[in-house]
Formats: sequence, structure tokens, C-alpha cells
Amino acid sequence: MRFDPMSRGTISWLRYAWSHGRFARVNLPGGVVSFSFDDFPASAAHAAAPMLEKEGWRGTYYLAPGLLKAETGVGTICSLEDVERLSQAGHEIGNHTESHHHCANSPDSVLLEEYERSQRQLKEFPGSRHFAFPAGSYDYPAAGFFSKRFDTSRTVNHGINAMVVDLNLLKANPVYSPVDFAGLAVLLKRTRQLRGWLILYTHDVCATPTNWGCSVDEFASVISAVKEAGLAVDTVGNVFRRLKRKD
Ligand SMILES: [Zn+2]
Repeated sequence: MRFDPMSRGTISWLRYAWSHGRFARVNLPGGVVSFSFDDFPASAAHAAAPMLEKEGWRGTYYLAPGLLKAETGVGTICSLEDVERLSQAGHEIGNHTESHHHCANSPDSVLLEEYERSQRQLKEFPGSRHFAFPAGSYDYPAAGFFSKRFDTSRTVNHGINAMVVDLNLLKANPVYSPVDFAGLAVLLKRTRQLRGWLILYTHDVCATPTNWGCSVDEFASVISAVKEAGLAVDTVGNVFRRLKRKD
């Protein structure tokens, strides 16, 4: 039997990492948590944002501007007024493509069109330098394409961003009902130990959440768990700026 240490996947990653990987060292004493919201439904603005603000915290809201006010599988998407209010309150408005485009297997021309159309609408928001792949759909060519255009790109690959991370492929963890609080406690403890960065994401936050959201009570309990674990909370952009200084 022949031994093949380099699978096609490994070679593809090496090729990507060599030309497009943007690696940063994470060393955040005490650990940091970022709350993020994808799409984002009106309830994430109306219910979750005030809960974060009460703690003096702010979130990162990834918006696909083509979905504004649309009825979707995660509820009614926010309005432009919601976006402006959140931004004025200090929350970060990130980019999530224009039409919630799934980026794997996409030609560069389509990615470019999505990028340009979304940034035309989002450019007034400084957080639009930060991106989340819709539905977590990406491949290495897409990660490479956006590496030149965004400061960070967030996946839905689970785990803690610790030690050395690729800013084009940040990890994140869902806050979906029923929330796994035991698992969250482990993640918080490990993030603290590793001086790492834990990014959480969800969609709707309301009394009857979809499969991609959580209840208001669960969200309140997540906030309590973060507070009890003693981790700091900041937006993706603010944490990115701290990483940069450590390059
Ligand atoms: Zn999304």
C-alpha cells in the first residue's frame, strides 16, 4: 500500500494558505467573546441589542442588504431604520453579501458583483470591512477572493479562535435553541485558558425562535454565562484591531 501524506484537500489548503492565508496571533488575556447575528432578523435588533447594551456590550450584525424587510426562514429581516439605529448605538454592521449568496463554487465574477452591490449600500458603516459567509458556505477560492476585500471573514466552523488563526476563516459557534449551556461553559472556560476569541452567532431572538435562533430567555442566560465566566465582550472589528497589533 502506498503512503500518501498529501491528500488533495491538504494540497488545496496549502495552495490557498500560501497565496491568500492571513494569519494572526491571538493572545487576549482573560479571553474575549463576540456576539454576532446573521442576516439579521428584526428581533435580533429589537430584543437582543438592548440586552447587550444593558451590559455595556455591542454586537456584530452581518447584513445582506438585499434581504431588508423580507420574510425569510429566520423571520422578518430588519429595516434600514433598524440598521441605522444599531450603528448609531455602537453596534457593528458587517457584510453578508447582497443577496445572501452561498459562496462555495462561485465564479469570481459573481462574488465581485455581490461584493460591489453590498458595499455600495454598506460603505457608510465601518463594520462592513468584516464579512460572514452566508450559510457558512465557502471554499478556498472564495476565501482567497474575499481576503483582499475584508479585514475578517467568519465561517460557521465551530471552535475557539486561539493561538494562530486565519483571519479569512474565523471560527464561530451557534446559539440555537435548545442552547447547549454545558457545551457553552466548556467553550468559555477553554477560551479564557487559551487567551482566545470565542465568536457566537445566531439569527432570531424571540419568544418562538426558528431552528436558527434562540429564545429571549436563552439569550439572557447566555449573557449571564459569559458574565459569570468573566470574559470580556467586544465586536469582531474591535477584537481584530487588537490582533493586528500583535502581528
Ligand atoms: Zn445568513
